[in-house]
Amino acid sequence: MRVYLAETMIRPDLQAHLFSEALLHNVRALKGLCRPGTKFCAVVKANAYGHGLAEVVNILRHAEVDFFAVASIYEAIHIAAIVREIPILILEPIYPAQAPDQVVAAARNGFHGVVTTVEAVDFIESVLSRGDDLLRVHVNVESGMGRCGADPEVAQHLIERIDKSTHTLLAGVFTHFATADEEDLSYAHNQLDRFRRFLTAHDLDRREGILRHAANSAATIKLPDAHFDMVRCGISLYGYYSRRMADPPVRLEPVMRLEAPIVQLKRIPAGHPVSYGCSFVPQRDTLTAMVSLGYADGYRRCFSNRACMRLGSHWAPVVGRVCMDQVLLDVTDVPDVKVGQHVTVIDNDHDSACGVYALADLADTICYEILTCVHAHVNRVVH
Ligand SMILES: *Cc1c(COP(=O)(O)O)cnc(C)c1O
Repeated sequence: MRVYLAETMIRPDLQAHLFSEALLHNVRALKGLCRPGTKFCAVVKANAYGHGLAEVVNILRHAEVDFFAVASIYEAIHIAAIVREIPILILEPIYPAQAPDQVVAAARNGFHGVVTTVEAVDFIESVLSRGDDLLRVHVNVESGMGRCGADPEVAQHLIERIDKSTHTLLAGVFTHFATADEEDLSYAHNQLDRFRRFLTAHDLDRREGILRHAANSAATIKLPDAHFDMVRCGISLYGYYSRRMADPPVRLEPVMRLEAPIVQLKRIPAGHPVSYGCSFVPQRDTLTAMVSLGYADGYRRCFSNRACMRLGSHWAPVVGRVCMDQVLLDVTDVPDVKVGQHVTVIDNDHDSACGVYALADLADTICYEILTCVHAHVNRVVH
């Protein structure tokens, strides 16, 4: 067994198996939906949606990826230490209270920033005024997301300000969809219209040297008109539709399978309660398996008495409360269970009873949150 002496603690026995071929397949499949020449931005924020940033970036360097996108500069610096040849877009807007060093670091590393206010451009200009560094920026235009995009009038002003500046270069104009994952695409179409009108009104539709982009995974899959010069795919890269899709135009393959070991087997007599809160009382003599994983590792407490795990071709229900570091399974009906055996906690199969969609339903959340909850201390095993 590998021994870890790193400053960040890793649990070798908790294993997130990453299937490189699935990830590379998803990139090819998604690119296959786009016109030739459309750039592909791999969104790897949130530790690559819980998969492991370094591992995913290392696999994707062998794919035709034109950009990485992250939320913060901290993630961008982490990637730049691994892969230098692929530009990185930092999605969160630059803000004037940010440490000036970060603007300098972003410029020197060739990162692309996002601006949504004139103050941010003034800030960049003042920070970079003494040297000859140049920061490439993308203007986020509000079209209906209602989060941080610049309203069209502000965005227009912003672009004029950037064009007059000496250290800030306009590299892109983009927007973000609020509802592209929903069945009813009318709001998304309205957003698309607004973005298009903005581009034409300011001659940005024909302008050279900038990237126009709008599509997240759902829009990449369902709204070809929204592809523009680049698509920004996150969840689909990891093998999931933003939500279950009945008849998807593209087949995506889940990239991660999470496994944890059984560390103890114990017979619990009928009527004897199990785990915190005594929330489960077996009706029969029961063989329980204690799995060394809990809510501190990303296995949600709301799975208590509701989820199940897979042991080969058998299913074992979670019994009692999920603890911080342990969870108990009823393995009475599972043959040949052994201490040390690994169980599948999160399956790499869309339809599995312990797949990401099933777990998201149980937790009343979306597949994104199930994935990003997988803790960074889980050992990533790349296949
Ligand atoms: C997270 C994010 C994406 C990716 O969204 P998915 O639904 O995971 O594809 C794209 N664009 C922006 C601005 C984002 O914040």
